Amino acid sequence: MHHFHYKNNKLYAEGVPLTEIAEAVGTPCYIYSQATLTHHFKVFDNAFSDVPHLTCYSVKANSNIALLKLFASLGGGVDVVSGGELFRALKADVSPKKIVFSGVGKTEDEIKMALEADILMFNVESEAELETIHEIASHLGKIAPIALRVNPDIDPKTHPYISTGLKKSKFGIDIKIAEQLYLKANHIPHIRVIGIDCHIGSQLTLLSPFLDALERIKLLYQKLEAQGLKLQYLDLGGGLGIPYGEEIPPHPTEYAQAIKAAAQDLNCTLIFEPGRVIVGNAGILLTKVLYLKQGKGKTFIIVDAAMNDLIRPSLYHAHHEIKPVEKMERPLVVADVVGPICETGDFFAQGRKMPLVQSGDLLAIMSAGAYGFVMSSNYNSRPRVAEVLVNGDRYQVIRKRECYEDLIRLEKIPEWMA
Ligand SMILES: *Cc1c(COP(=O)(O)O)cnc(C)c1O
Repeated sequence: MHHFHYKNNKLYAEGVPLTEIAEAVGTPCYIYSQATLTHHFKVFDNAFSDVPHLTCYSVKANSNIALLKLFASLGGGVDVVSGGELFRALKADVSPKKIVFSGVGKTEDEIKMALEADILMFNVESEAELETIHEIASHLGKIAPIALRVNPDIDPKTHPYISTGLKKSKFGIDIKIAEQLYLKANHIPHIRVIGIDCHIGSQLTLLSPFLDALERIKLLYQKLEAQGLKLQYLDLGGGLGIPYGEEIPPHPTEYAQAIKAAAQDLNCTLIFEPGRVIVGNAGILLTKVLYLKQGKGKTFIIVDAAMNDLIRPSLYHAHHEIKPVEKMERPLVVADVVGPICETGDFFAQGRKMPLVQSGDLLAIMSAGAYGFVMSSNYNSRPRVAEVLVNGDRYQVIRKRECYEDLIRLEKIPEWMA
């Protein structure tokens, strides 16, 4: 579900024609729909309204502070994976008691920052990290609330780059040794063991890996309980997929039904860390056609956005629908939609059947709200694009387009060259 629709053959974001935003803000730019963001958050969160739970939006999917502020206003918490994300969350007035901190490589500074902010809990990914957290907490005279991120060795059946719950992955603590570590952690003075956590991957389109992981986590939970260690939180991570093309992932309510049924005998608060499912379909990347070029047996549509703006097609061979902003009578062609960057991997679509657009036409690259802007870079010295939030008939730039000066702002010519 999203609010990007045609009216009289013109594509709108809610009540605003995309042509209007293109004219005012320029292209390329990301455009997000607030109604869609709100709807997605509420559908997910409401699906668990009958059980104690906390929806901690995964900041890494889209970290703009306007979005964080929106989710916080809807009662959400966040899952952060860096000090920078924690900084953003605090700036957006997310309640620290609704912040969980995940990630395999938390630095001392990040741990200190999170302890000083009094976050809800650290999702600890190794014994070494546990020791570091303890050391820092004891220096600060604090008690660090923690969960262990357990690796249940489950194949999430998604792209290998976004599979995180297999034994061979760098994430989490092997479920076989987790029990021992729990019992050990429980005796460390500046550590308070309050939860158990797992996150097995992203863009999952099946329920079974979630349920298989939960079964294994439950066993561990019950074993710990039997030994007198009662855990208050069960964090099941994120990972629910969205339809980019043909795939039909489970609906959040279906996911919720299955999880609730499986977890009902565990008397604890459930935490979720959804990212993509909240923001993915709530954003598009708006781009303009620069040139058409006839290659050997194929047409290249060269647009002003590139892999530095949206890397998913290049990185994961991800599929994104591409729609003309103004529908016209155009013959169909099979084309590659490519950007201006000097890399053959710089494409948004290959061999795509689509209308033969022309120079100056606008295209909407759909489902670009998650892992879009956040993964963008300045490669080829391209300023990062603007982000726009639409709300009904209104819109506002929520991140300005970078300018050339921004590109070199932090650089310096050394004295000996001056
Ligand atoms: C990436 C990530 C998420 C969010 O994943 P989605 O697939 O976007 O829902 C949640 N938790 C952790 C620990 C992550 O690394």
